[in-house]
Amino acid sequence: MRWSPGGRSRHLEDRRGRGFGGPAGIGGGILALILALIFGPQVLDQSDGTTTTDAYGEVGLAPADSAAEEPMVQFMSFLLDDIQQTWDGAFGRAGGSYRPATLVLFRDGTRSACGIGQSAMGPFYCPLDEKVYLDLGFFEELDRRFGAPGDFAQAYVVAHELGHHVQHLTGLAERVRGFQRSDPDIANELSVRLELQADCYAGVWAHSAAERGMLETGDVEEGLNAASAVGDDRIQRRTTGSLNVDSFTHGSATQRAEWFTRGYRAGNSTACDTFRAG
Ligand SMILES: [Zn+2]
Repeated sequence: MRWSPGGRSRHLEDRRGRGFGGPAGIGGGILALILALIFGPQVLDQSDGTTTTDAYGEVGLAPADSAAEEPMVQFMSFLLDDIQQTWDGAFGRAGGSYRPATLVLFRDGTRSACGIGQSAMGPFYCPLDEKVYLDLGFFEELDRRFGAPGDFAQAYVVAHELGHHVQHLTGLAERVRGFQRSDPDIANELSVRLELQADCYAGVWAHSAAERGMLETGDVEEGLNAASAVGDDRIQRRTTGSLNVDSFTHGSATQRAEWFTRGYRAGNSTACDTFRAG
């Protein structure tokens, strides 16, 4: 993908340096989480004494880690702004207005308005605080464990999560949740349709990126591959853990790739009515 670093997005919230991390790693994170559940969140802010303030002014993130991850943070910032500008334009043309979501980068675990987020859950969107939560370590999992490497695979993940924000802004997500409460028998099916629509929305953004000459050979395939790799069927076949793009049922590999493609070809969210189709 063609892009140039433009600094940090003002919609990026960097929590990587807060608690949870350090030499104890994931085990320490889980322990901190349990302690936090018992004793309250102030436990999460305890420093392990080995970390320091880095060049970006964050307490608790080792400078070496911070420097190593900075290119990725810049890429996330770029994606966040680019995807949201695309939706801002689309909302504007439809006579609406877009309210930007925040992207929270964290390690191991963090608090959200939807409960404690853990890395093992994979990236997720919380409509209550309108934030996407992401542990950069997920991309390593996506590459090694799910066989979906590449910058555009990562772009797909961010675009998918922001797709859930769009569903929240249009009011669709809340309407669907209402239907799910009143008819639990179809709750799962409705979740799948929401997920496929978020894939389609990721495709809509990919179309816009392509139009602006940002895609390189193989990028769309990377996105498609990522969409398929995190399909329910593949995940169930592969996992020992419960890694997922977020915590809902998502649809099969074929379905996910199909809807990403629909959005990509059309370049318009009207192609993404997963509730009418099928
Ligand atoms: Zn999702």
